[in-house]
Parts: sequence; structure tokens; C-alpha cells
Amino acid sequence: MLDIEGKSVEVQVRRSKRVHGHRIVVRYGLPPELVVRPRATRADIEDAIRFHRGWLERQLAKAVEPRLGLERLRLTEEQGRREARARISLIAQSEAVALGVSYSRLTVRDQRSRWGSCSSKGALSFNWRLVLAPHDVLDYVVVHEICHLVELNHGPRFWRLVERRRPGYRESKRWLDDHGWEILAYRPPAATAAA
Ligand SMILES: [Zn+2]
Repeated sequence: MLDIEGKSVEVQVRRSKRVHGHRIVVRYGLPPELVVRPRATRADIEDAIRFHRGWLERQLAKAVEPRLGLERLRLTEEQGRREARARISLIAQSEAVALGVSYSRLTVRDQRSRWGSCSSKGALSFNWRLVLAPHDVLDYVVVHEICHLVELNHGPRFWRLVERRRPGYRESKRWLDDHGWEILAYRPPAATAAA
């Protein structure tokens, strides 16, 4: 247990042969995990926590109580992926036509830190978790990646193009900064097993 800003935070300790010294992992929605060598003593563990404390405090300050109430949706990953693929493909197709570009592949996957990507070969990849965001936000991420088919960088020309296609994109971007972590932390209920 660790006391951070008046709240006690439980740090889970895991022993691993593959770690040199120690490291700490913070995943939103889960208790922080400290990984130590198999023979680490209690004093080693306390030292390690002391060492990571400042960083840990900053990470946890960002992970405040969930505000979107996503759990209420009871959306399974399978449902989410299906819906994400349908909505994303629709936007990607019409946006590609509008910009006169084409992509080679569109993949929807589970990603813990990114929303979308575009490879130099024109393969697009999106995080299914975008279905948990407001429609404008999902729309912005798709348009952002399609714009990379024209400009594969984040230079001023790229942002001008995004703005031309979606003049209100900054609001969606801000929404992702504010709430993105909640979406990444969403843990879908397990799909009901087939009888
Ligand atoms: Zn980008």
C-alpha cells in the first residue's frame, strides 16, 4: 500500500527472472504493478517504490475516477469490433474518394495506446475502442489517417488538409486528450460462451 494524495494505492508486486533491477507498469484501470527480481527482499521492494514514487504520483493523478460510465454499455469486444469496422470503413471509403486516394488494407484491432495508423504502403489500422467515443471523434480519427495517404507526416500541410476536411477537428482531438485513457481502460465483459 502506498499513500498518494490521501488515497491509498495498492501496488502489486510480481517477481520475474527477466527483469534487471526493477520496473513499474501503470495500466489505466488496474493497480500499478512493480516487477522485481525473484530474490528481491522486502527492503528492495520498498526502495523500488520510493524510487518510482514521483513518477507514479504523476501517472495516477491523470487516472482519475472514470467519468464516462462506459461499463454500463456492457459492450463486448466482438460487438465493438464489428461496429467499429462497419462505421470506420464507411467513413474511410467516402473520405478516400473525396481526396482521390486509396488504401491497401483496413484493419481493426485492440490497441492499448493508439487510435489509428497509416503505413507508407497505405495500410490503415484502427482501434476498435473508438466506438466508445462520440461519433465526431471516431470520424476525426478516420479522416486523420486518410489525410496521411496524402501527407505522411504531421507537418503544417497535413494539418491544413485535416482542417479543410473537418473544420471542428480540434474539439475531437481535445476530447481524446481528456477521455482517451478511459476508453483505453475499458474492459469489455467476456462474450457469453456458446452453449
Ligand atoms: Zn497522424
